[in-house]
Amino acid sequence: MENEYILSNQSDWDTAECICGNHAFGDGFCPCDAVGNQITPEAEWIAGLVVCLACGRIIDPGTFEIVGRNKKLVGVWFEAE
Ligand SMILES: [Zn+2]
Repeated sequence: MENEYILSNQSDWDTAECICGNHAFGDGFCPCDAVGNQITPEAEWIAGLVVCLACGRIIDPGTFEIVGRNKKLVGVWFEAE
């Protein structure tokens, strides 16, 4: 299976757009742990990943590669889908 990447120029999060259509000025993205659970700003960002708050895709902000999906988050945010 080919790796999926979100859409961006890979240098600026302001231009990043998830393949679900969410972007930094929409629902946005949030730092998360390895399984895509949002972490508080005070917590240590060990996993170094961000999660799309619209679809739950977990993104590596260094490569913009989609590395997973938090289905729990999708259940909360995606009732309208
Ligand atoms: Zn998304």
